Amino acid sequence: MLGFYGREDIKLKVDMSALARNYNRRKIAFKKGKGSFLYALNGKRYLDFVQGIAVNSLGHANPKLIRAINKQARKVWHVSNAFIIPEGEKLAKRLAQKTFADYVIFQNSGTEATEAAIKIARRYFYSKGKPHKNRILCVKNSFHGRTIAAIFASGSKKMTEGFGPTVAGFDHFRFGDHKSLKKSITNKTAAIMVEPIMGEGGIKVIPDWCLRELRKICNKKKILLILDEVQCGIGRTGNFFAFENSKVKPDIVPIAKGIGGGFPIGAVLMTKKVAFAMSPGTHGSTFGGNPLAMCVGNAVLDQILKKGFLNNLKKISKYFYKELNKIKKDYPNIIKEIRGKGLLIGIQLNFDQSKFIKSLEKNYLLTIRAAENVIRILPPLNVKKNEIDLALKIISKVCKEYK
Ligand SMILES: *Cc1c(COP(=O)(O)O)cnc(C)c1O
Repeated sequence: MLGFYGREDIKLKVDMSALARNYNRRKIAFKKGKGSFLYALNGKRYLDFVQGIAVNSLGHANPKLIRAINKQARKVWHVSNAFIIPEGEKLAKRLAQKTFADYVIFQNSGTEATEAAIKIARRYFYSKGKPHKNRILCVKNSFHGRTIAAIFASGSKKMTEGFGPTVAGFDHFRFGDHKSLKKSITNKTAAIMVEPIMGEGGIKVIPDWCLRELRKICNKKKILLILDEVQCGIGRTGNFFAFENSKVKPDIVPIAKGIGGGFPIGAVLMTKKVAFAMSPGTHGSTFGGNPLAMCVGNAVLDQILKKGFLNNLKKISKYFYKELNKIKKDYPNIIKEIRGKGLLIGIQLNFDQSKFIKSLEKNYLLTIRAAENVIRILPPLNVKKNEIDLALKIISKVCKEYK
């Protein structure tokens, strides 16, 4: 099979795959990547505005990340959290210094980070002698990952179907429905958990004033605010966190995707107040925070936190939105809305987006779907203007030729 995949002239016979069918994979494979581009087995070059779904924050094969991982790989990969890991101490300290957080727990993925966030919220009230406060209030049809608890947190029928019994402890309100939100808070509620920008849900932005209102409600009800920044965090919006402009201070923030630049890292950031509930033995992870992962995380931060990096992202994304809105104006029958913040961009079509995404791919631009007929555009955070221009040209062309 391996030799077979290496042959560039043969169509991939995916029906021979030993991988389970839980993905509807596109029939395309890549041999290498460089920055914003991917090179397919057949030699064709694609502009990759998926970037592993907002994961490769610095593009493919970033020289500084390669150097960092090579250097660490020759020293030590993995030890165990039974020991002090200096690279992790350093990354945690930097995250705490840069953000609202006082403490960090490292994981390996987004869903582990959201699960840890749920555990921390429950444990906080347990340690305060209020174990009955253990329910998490989430947005209906949100996305917090695919583990058994996270799917029930999402409240999505599609994701939970066939995976009963229902995991208890989650309530839901409809996005933007403030009445149903307030009504759903009971004396058993421990926390409200939302994505500041719903990624899988269709790049739906919670306005800053709503985030502030959420914080106020949480303060009044003495419950915790969890902001899931797994997709929208780590510079993606032009701020380190998507909620930053709102000036809101959350209690717990799970992160993942962008922080590893392609290496699997997850983490939960939290305030001192809730961190004290996590005494020795309350949570753990074999792989979480190992030296190899931590050194990559530090190398990603080195670049994202560089002076001017995020300002440049803001500038370039402003240009991107301006030009996308021009295309929308030219093709109002196709494009309904341009959504998002920074480089977390959604193009909402007036109809199902699958065929459009395929046409973009035929023109060598890779994008990915989200709910509500949205096409997600997720360039690396260091994308260049001429690459954005190339994407605009392709989107424009596909609109023009679309039937
Ligand atoms: C991707 C995502 C997750 C899950 O992350 P995994 O690494 O796939 O487990 C959780 N929350 C949000 C908002 C996400 O976008």
